[in-house]
Amino acid sequence: MINRRSFIKTTAAGIALTALPNVVLGAGKKSPLRFKSSVYEDVNYDVVVVGAGASGIPAAIAAARQGAKVALIDEDPVPGGAPVDMYVSYMCGGPRIGIFKEMLQGLNANAMFPDPTFGEDGGNGKSHWWHPTNFLQVIMQMLMEEPNISLIMNAPAIDVVLSNNKVTGVVVLRNGSLQNIKGKVTIDATGIGLISEKAGCEIMFGAEAKSDYNEPYGVETASSRVQPCTQMFISHRVKAGAVLPIGHLERISIAEDQYGWLKENAENQGDDPVSGGWQQRDSGIYLHWGYGQHYIDTRDPQAVAASQLWCLDKLKNDIRTLSEAGFAVELAPKIGIRECRRVKGEYVLTANELKAGWMPEDRIATSNYMLDSWSVSMTKEEKTVPLYGIPYRSLIPLGVEGLLTAGRIISGTSLAASSYRVQPPCAAIGQAAGIAASMAAFNQTSVRNIPMEDFKCELIRNGLYKTSGK
Ligand SMILES: Cc1cc2nc3c(=O)[nH]c(=O)nc-3n(C[C@H](O)[C@H](O)[C@H](O)COP(=O)(O)OP(=O)(O)OC[C@H]3O[C@@H](n4cnc5c(N)ncnc54)[C@H](O)[C@@H]3O)c2cc1C
Repeated sequence: MINRRSFIKTTAAGIALTALPNVVLGAGKKSPLRFKSSVYEDVNYDVVVVGAGASGIPAAIAAARQGAKVALIDEDPVPGGAPVDMYVSYMCGGPRIGIFKEMLQGLNANAMFPDPTFGEDGGNGKSHWWHPTNFLQVIMQMLMEEPNISLIMNAPAIDVVLSNNKVTGVVVLRNGSLQNIKGKVTIDATGIGLISEKAGCEIMFGAEAKSDYNEPYGVETASSRVQPCTQMFISHRVKAGAVLPIGHLERISIAEDQYGWLKENAENQGDDPVSGGWQQRDSGIYLHWGYGQHYIDTRDPQAVAASQLWCLDKLKNDIRTLSEAGFAVELAPKIGIRECRRVKGEYVLTANELKAGWMPEDRIATSNYMLDSWSVSMTKEEKTVPLYGIPYRSLIPLGVEGLLTAGRIISGTSLAASSYRVQPPCAAIGQAAGIAASMAAFNQTSVRNIPMEDFKCELIRNGLYKTSGK
């Protein structure tokens, strides 16, 4: 266990050491985008993971543990993805296995409010949230323990490197210059599918009509509607004795430290959600789902920024109310984007397979979270799904070589994705993608031709091959 001071020291040194040795400035080279500064020389890895979020971190760790040299790239200054940059630090769904389980164990051990009873499976009613600081501390520690990973932060990937129609890496904007970060296999774990779009993959965006894939529920006509964006925030008691002014807030979607969804908990316990029950636990730290906006074109940064401004404006009263009551508010730096591009793959997963508990031969992960679509009105029973499998084919983009997808962008309908988009399945998908990518890199084969029996053995060895239970 490391203390805070040595953590910060080691983290900073770790990042510097992993990022710097590969850097050689190619003085005088001209950038294709007419950047005035020099460009960095190409660097080569076995596996390049773009996006250090819920799926990208397990992907990088899994590939590194297979012995692959891995570049883990993110546009953010720190890794973490949605739990850190959007404050989506509430984890629901399951199963909680593999590297995700290791992360939970780290969180339970390091949390500000330790709760060793946090559930391994999604179905035991224990959905908790962790402060993004705890989250960052745990994932940084996990990444530091992997010498095969070069962490490259503050480096948006803006294009792919293509060689004979095969993706052989990405172009990043690094310190104001361009750099080709090359890999035998690239994993798009961006949550927004930008890398796949740049690679020429077929992109799915918005809600399919239910007739498109013969799904049991859905909208009648296909549209560009995606799930809403939400501005998350955290409130902390800073004035002794202050009580959360719940009855005076306009938005009361709130979770208290690690005890889950307060309103639901209170109702389950027969308490009044406003006056009793959860308030008596009185932890003084709360996660808030602030205002959200529907149907934003989440591919467009200007539309996303406008949505964030709108949400922040709507939140002004609640922030003032909290502040007057003695609570400080921390806004998530990015507005939460639930849905963006999905990448059409060799298999398009639909709600039909989810409802049937399908376990395909080439399954690489499982999920048991409900169909959680915001645009389709469904009963609780209709939303419920059993444990179902995610086929490897959904990670392989149609007609494109050298690329795998991971996380919420894999190939499925909008309705199906509303289930596996939560963090435990995204992490398992990422871990499997990392294993597959390293196998393709070592065998010098296409991601389509990895030895499936060996792959399955690795999935089992890594605790990912769960086929029953919650
Ligand atoms: C408001 C909201 C509420 C949610 N509620 C829950 C919940 O309660 N429980 C739950 O389990 N899940 C929840 N989710 C879903 C879950 O958080 C996400 O679906 C999940 O994090 C997706 O994982 P990912 O790896 O695909 O993407 P992310 O976790 O978003 O990671 C993507 C990473 O890629 C980086 N990136 C993007 N583009 C580039 C680029 N061009 N170059 C370099 N880096 C790039 C991003 O900075 C980010 O770090 C919620 C999501 C939102 C937005």
